[in-house]
Amino acid sequence: MTFFIATKNRKKLDEMLRILKPLGISAICEADLETPLEEVEETGSTFAENAFLKAQAGCKATGLPSVADDSGLMVDFLGGAPGVYSKRYSGEDGNDGRNIAKLLAALKDVPEQERTAHFVSSVCAVWPDGRVLRAEGSCDGVIAQSPEGSGGFGYDPVFLYNGISFAEMSAGEKDAVSHRGRALNIFREKLEEMMREKNADK
Ligand code: IMP
Repeated sequence: MTFFIATKNRKKLDEMLRILKPLGISAICEADLETPLEEVEETGSTFAENAFLKAQAGCKATGLPSVADDSGLMVDFLGGAPGVYSKRYSGEDGNDGRNIAKLLAALKDVPEQERTAHFVSSVCAVWPDGRVLRAEGSCDGVIAQSPEGSGGFGYDPVFLYNGISFAEMSAGEKDAVSHRGRALNIFREKLEEMMREKNADK
């Protein structure tokens, strides 16, 4: 089975390929297409809705079953912000550095016990025949006082899991505990079940 992985985020794509590979799934991504996909407007109010919109657009454009992730950071002190706006927290033209700076400024002088946060990932696959498969994963952590480490992407340098930032972990260490790793493992189990049921129908 060949999937289209519907993401424009190179780092996210690498994580998804790494985690889906052991499934024996082959995947193509936007770089393999002749024409780039149009930007999908993330108009949903939940991660699940936005993941569906991205997967559906990928499926329409390629005719392949398409999988997408919508994810973000939810900070308890900020009432769950930046949430679905994580990518655009510092504005439409924002970037990881500006997002982190805005987050640390919003948490200035907030003590460690009140800096709890969760990464959430919603994974969705859409097939040309209309089938939809969804999975969610989350990871609890604490927002650091300042960035630590140089790996990963997004808010990784300020997200501490057991005292270590995601940006200080190896790819394998992050995958084992991350929201996306957890969501994709659940996705994998559901996909295997779907494939077993399909074979049983034959
Ligand atoms: P999306 O592409 O709309 O799903 O945006 C997700 C945004 O959430 C990213 O641009 C990052 O800012 C943040 N994010 C999601 N997953 C991660 C992660 O694994 N590490 C760091 N930041 C993440």
